Amino acid sequence: MCSGRVDLAFVLRAFSNGMDGVFIGGCRLNECNYSTHGNYHALNMVLLCRKIMEHIGLNPERLRIEFMTSGEGILFAEVMSEFGNKVNKLGPLGKAEGIDQNELKSKLAEITKLVPYIKLVKKEKLASRLESPEEYDKLFTKDEIGRLFSEVISYYIDPEKCQACMTCAKRCPAEAIVGGKNLIHVIDQEKCIKCGTCFEVCPPKFRAVTEIAGAPVPPPISEEKRTIVRKSKES
Ligand code: SF4
Ligand code: SF4
Repeated sequence: MCSGRVDLAFVLRAFSNGMDGVFIGGCRLNECNYSTHGNYHALNMVLLCRKIMEHIGLNPERLRIEFMTSGEGILFAEVMSEFGNKVNKLGPLGKAEGIDQNELKSKLAEITKLVPYIKLVKKEKLASRLESPEEYDKLFTKDEIGRLFSEVISYYIDPEKCQACMTCAKRCPAEAIVGGKNLIHVIDQEKCIKCGTCFEVCPPKFRAVTEIAGAPVPPPISEEKRTIVRKSKES
């Protein structure tokens, strides 16, 4: 219904499924029927995705967004025909760029896993309304995208501080936190989508969740050592 609903993950999925090009058509900017102006979100998502594509070695011209009304059939046909020809000229995804197919798949999978994190970190820019195409290239820069991936934040529960209140496990949207009553909680880094919820909800009196940027996450505490023996019970 709305181009604003086209998530970054959808575009990455299309490329991951082997599409050589992705086209998104939206209503003209400032002519959205809703106060949300979803077409600006779509534009910003495309600008971000194009920079991400460059970062992993894909030609960003494989992704295009155009704005038009439903009455502009001829324009639509022209744009699609031009884009189709362009994608044909670019050749098969990855192969034309000299990227090994397995490597490309794993890069796209890695980035797809980070989509919630990317959207969180870039939420202000993703919500911006650019006035003119001259501003498009400045919204996201090459260095910024490099930093985005080199400084990815991981979340870690400090076993010395965790009091097994279970708040984080209940709120984690990815079921990535292993724990239970009287058990020190542990984040399954494979499942974690880096949304930061656990960091936000861990009670301030515990502050057991820490952010780790650009450094390895300590290994999880062994299962035998996870039980918390409360002082009252000990006595
Ligand atoms: S950051 Fe925390 S809440 Fe979010 S997915 Fe990872 S473990 Fe779960
Ligand atoms: S919210 Fe904090 S104290 Fe509570 S279980 Fe999670 S990490 Fe431990």
